Amino acid sequence: MLFPIYVAQSLPISAEVKSSFNDIVLVIVAPTLIGCIVFILLIPLVCFFGLFFIIPKLFILENEQILKRAQNASRKAATLNKVTKTFERDPNVIEYAKRWAKGICQLFDQLAPYKNKKNKPHLHTYHIKWISKGGEDTIENTVALCPNCHDKMHVLDLNEDIQKARAKSKNSSI
Ligand SMILES: [Zn+2]
Repeated sequence: MLFPIYVAQSLPISAEVKSSFNDIVLVIVAPTLIGCIVFILLIPLVCFFGLFFIIPKLFILENEQILKRAQNASRKAATLNKVTKTFERDPNVIEYAKRWAKGICQLFDQLAPYKNKKNKPHLHTYHIKWISKGGEDTIENTVALCPNCHDKMHVLDLNEDIQKARAKSKNSSI
């Protein structure tokens, strides 16, 4: 910071000029440089907080804002044509998995929450290793789950649940 002063001292100029030059450096240049350095250091800090704490909060709407938007929403849902890839699963595998479960959700170990119109326990057949990830459509890779647990598997995909499902499948020795 005081480098300009040292440089000025070594120059062949009068002591008076040197003195006033030193004053300028100490009073104006040095604080300005310090200010600039502090400012430069603050920029990444401000950017960091802005990026991770302030900006995300700007996108979270208050309840009143959500309500207003919901009330102003178009009453007729828009239509969207989608091309989706679906896997055709063997109905016998589905039926066997349900019979193997005997009406009990194999994750929650409780009776299916309700019966369907045919008076059968309403369970979904779930592929432990998803077909979309290369899992096979076999009775060894399927369990019957209540709709709630089925949804949980898709949302959380917890390893402990997968292990439990494997233990309850036809593949197990139970
Ligand atoms: Zn369940």
